Order: sequence, then C-alpha cells, then structure tokens
Amino acid sequence: MDIETLVKNASRNEKLLHQLQAMELRLLSCRRWQELFDVLFVELPKTFAIAQLEIVVIDPDNRARASIERQLGPIDGSKWPLRLSRQLYTSDTKSKILNEQDLAHLGFASGLQLPLIKQEQYFGLVRFMSKSLKRFQPDMATDFLAHLVAVIAACFELVMQTEEIARLAYTDPLTEVTNRRGFRHAFQQEVARAKRQNTSIGFALLDIDHFKIINDTHGHLSGDRVLKQLCSVLTQVLRPTDHVGRMGGEEFMLLLPDCDAGHLLIIMERVRDIIAHTPFINVSDEAMVVTVSGGIGCLDGNSLMDMSLENIISYLDDSLYAAKSSGRNKMIEADFIKQ
Ligand code: GH3
Ligand code: MG
Ligand code: MG
Repeated sequence: MDIETLVKNASRNEKLLHQLQAMELRLLSCRRWQELFDVLFVELPKTFAIAQLEIVVIDPDNRARASIERQLGPIDGSKWPLRLSRQLYTSDTKSKILNEQDLAHLGFASGLQLPLIKQEQYFGLVRFMSKSLKRFQPDMATDFLAHLVAVIAACFELVMQTEEIARLAYTDPLTEVTNRRGFRHAFQQEVARAKRQNTSIGFALLDIDHFKIINDTHGHLSGDRVLKQLCSVLTQVLRPTDHVGRMGGEEFMLLLPDCDAGHLLIIMERVRDIIAHTPFINVSDEAMVVTVSGGIGCLDGNSLMDMSLENIISYLDDSLYAAKSSGRNKMIEADFIKQ
C-alpha cells in the first residue's frame, strides 16, 4: 500500500471514529423510547449511509414490549424495523455477514448482523442492511460497529429502566392509575398541548359517596377492592388518551384532552350512571352499590394560561361539595369564571 492510500485510509478512519463517537453520545442521551428509536432507525442509518437498521430483541416475559407500549402504544405493525421475539434462535447469536440466503427475503444486497449482549447474555441482534453488494463483505473489520452495538445494548436497557422507574414513581400501587405526581406530569403535558393546538380540556374531580360506610360495613379490604374496581371501570369507559389520577384516599381526578363542555357533561353523566349500575364485589363475593359525586369543568387553551392545577382543583372541589350536599350520585359543573 502506498503512503497516499495509507493517509487516505487513516483520515477516513478518523472521520468514521468521530461519527461513531458522536453517534454513541446521541444514543446515550436518549431517555425515552421515541428518542431512542428516532436515533436508531432514522439518524444512524443516515449518518452511516446504510439502507436500514433492524433490531430483534428476545423478550420472553414481555418486559420490553410492555415498557415500549406504555410510552408508544402497540408496536406490532408500527413503522420501526423492530421485532420482539419470545424465543432465542441460537443460529442468530453470532456475528455474521448475511449470505444470499439470509438476504433473499429481506430485499437488501448485503448486510451485517451483530449480537446484542447485556451482562454477558445474548438478548437480541442488530442488522445493518445495505442496497450495495460491496458494503458488507466477509473480510471487513467489524470492531467499530461491534462497539456501537454494545452501546445500543446498554441504551436499550437504560431507556427501559428509566421508563420503569418513572412508572413506579408515577403510579398508585393499589389501583395502578397515576398518583398525584403522575397526574401533575400528565396535566403539564396536556396543558402545553392544548395551548399549542388551542383545544379544550375536560376535568372532573370524583369522590366516592359514603366510602367510610363501605369500609365500616364490608371491611377495609373490601374498600380497597372498590377503589381498584372503580379505577378499572373508569379506564374502560374513558378513551386510552384520557388520564385518571388518584389524588388521595377515595378521590380521583380525570383529564380528558380535546373535550368541550357539552361532551364532558354527557361523558361524565355516563360514567356516573355506569358506576351506579356496576355491581362492586366485596371480599365475600357479595355485590355492593357504589356511587360517586363529581365536580366537572372544561377549559380552553387560553383560559388554561393562568390556571394552576391547584386552582382548577379548588373550583372543582366547590362543585363536588355542592354535589355532596345536594344528595350525592351527581355531577355538577364548575363555574371557572366566578371568584
Ligand atoms: P362522602 O360521601 O361525603 O365523601 O363520605 P365518605 O365517607 O366517602 O368520606 P370521608 O372523607 O368521611 O371518608 C373517606 C374514607 O376513605 C375514610 C378513609 O378511611 C377511607 N380511605 C382512604 N383511603 C383508603 C384506602 O386506601 N383504602 C380504604 N379501604 N379506605 C380508604
Ligand atoms: Mg367520599
Ligand atoms: Mg373524600
């Protein structure tokens, strides 16, 4: 090799090394699945001029699937070349240049497959695919990319752990709906969105009627069951994009994005009616009647500007109090303008 070629190779390697280091930093900065997938499946292929990056993750207990789907919704049929597989194929655990047979059904001219490894355990693979036959050849050095794949493996785990920790911090362990902290987080995000898109948000503050009597009559464990069953009714009746938060004892707050006052009243009357007609089951498998009262109200993007969550709760609480004192099992609209 002449000196000119050596210099050319060296400077190409140096450029590649810089690109790799920059890409690794980008990957390590990701904390959410959306960010990680954007970097992996959009930025990375563009930076390294490859046609597609594919990832297969062995996920026997659905841990990765559950974590991703909590943030992004169903992943089957999604736009990403990501597959979660329950099984491990031992033929896939080795680094290899994909042969014609491997490539035949994938629609690429050449490809490199590297294993994803965490704590010395194989947990999936990454495939770099190219439309060019020459791109991935048996004699090529793969150590640069193997290093990148090790970083991808670490980032995958990091994003999953971050999601899991946030979920624990934001979830009420008894009912599995968001706790006050989680609800505040959702509130901030939804308010920002409503302001951007100039849509209204519907709110409801619900409180179980005579819950103390339920506890006293059927026992605290039956009371706990009521709380759980109520949350499961609420999440089933509402849209997946609505939020349910346990604000304390037997008090729940709902946030319905993109909802006007007319719809909110119809939805909340339906919620109230369904709860009143649902047989709640105590620990002795007997049915109990449970009702809720609520203060409800809608705010548009503009009015949300100068309303804190505490402000909103205090208005809703006045209506809730009115519902309680006028007989319970009622929804009363808040007047956000008075005061
Ligand atoms: P009202 O219709 O006026 O709301 O009457 P209430 O009995 O529901 O209201 P009160 O505030 O007097 O009682 C609420 C009860 O909720 C008291 C408390 O022991 C109970 N509670 C709070 N958290 C829990 C919980 O996690 N599990 C159970 N079983 N009970 C709880
Ligand atoms: Mg109550
Ligand atoms: Mg209460």
